[in-house]
Amino acid sequence: MVLVYNYGMKMDELETLPISRAQFQKLDIFKNVAFESLAGYLLGCETITVEPGTLLIDPNQPKRRLLILLDGLLQVVLESKGGSFSDTILPGHCAGEMSIFDNVKPSAQVFAKEKSSLLVIDAGTALAMLNASHDLCLNFLQLLSNRLRNNNKVVCEEEYHIRCIEENAKADSLTGLHNRRWLEDMYTRELKRSNEGDFHLSAFMLDIDHFKNINDSYGHIAGDQVLIAVAKCITNCLRPSDMPVRYGGEEFTVFLPNTTSENAKIIAERLRSSVEKMQIALSSGEVISVTVSVGFTERQQGDTVETIIKRADDALYHAKESGRNRVCLNLGEDSMFLF
Ligand code: GH3
Ligand code: MG
Ligand code: MG
Repeated sequence: MVLVYNYGMKMDELETLPISRAQFQKLDIFKNVAFESLAGYLLGCETITVEPGTLLIDPNQPKRRLLILLDGLLQVVLESKGGSFSDTILPGHCAGEMSIFDNVKPSAQVFAKEKSSLLVIDAGTALAMLNASHDLCLNFLQLLSNRLRNNNKVVCEEEYHIRCIEENAKADSLTGLHNRRWLEDMYTRELKRSNEGDFHLSAFMLDIDHFKNINDSYGHIAGDQVLIAVAKCITNCLRPSDMPVRYGGEEFTVFLPNTTSENAKIIAERLRSSVEKMQIALSSGEVISVTVSVGFTERQQGDTVETIIKRADDALYHAKESGRNRVCLNLGEDSMFLF
């Protein structure tokens, strides 16, 4: 005699199903789905057990099939030009679902991370199951939404991470000011803007006087403290739109957009005198002060970053030669003005 169940399956067929009712009900993808409504489709499916390292989804050999992890752990690995990304799939979740719908080559590889058992459903059967169960459709939509949200999160985090790396590469770790890499990019842009709009732009080159003596007398750490203090003083004397940079060692440059040489002179003098007045408390307990020399210039038509910095640097050299702790303006063609 053959027993017939209320969902139309015979007893011997039930025994050949790849997963039991209890296993079915534990799987997230089948949440709220009546076992009876899909049991017939499961007849044509199979379960497989794979060893760790088995490649289950290979973008180079795509197979349209849905893999539902019953037991074990899977690893998703995506390698792209931008780097690699890895995620895991836990029991109850699935892989390969996107290819079922779009028939596009998978973008990631999926490996078995541990010994794993899986329910394998071919694309045709998976689509027929979706047709037969509204709840299964909802579960799929939920799964795809989760995947999308997760992917967006990964992309945003990745972008944030890349931006931090880029920012760090353009910042001077000692003073927190921008460095030469930033200068090349931003000064070029600012100069282009000023040249095109014929806007005023002034540039400073600033150097700490007899800085070597500080290192020699108080040590390198004290020298670093002085650099930090001077950088802070420079920032405090400027507007937020000004562009201070640690050019190297104890030299700093500043681009001052929309600033005439008359105004630049006032700012340079204020900066020089602020540094001079500063009392720098060293970690040794000693308090010292330093001075700076400043060379500055104003943009001229046809200037490049190199030519404008060179003029400011020549003015700085002149300020040093003239006794240090001074401000000097270079208007080109040997027009040096000491203040
Ligand atoms: P001048 O008045 O002509 O500018 O003389 P100076 O002693 O300031 O100039 P010099 O170029 O002879 O010396 C600069 C010194 O700055 C030498 C170098 O060891 C020191 N230096 C460069 N970078 C750093 C740094 O990051 N930390 C410290 N502590 N010292 C630095
Ligand atoms: Mg110096
Ligand atoms: Mg120097």
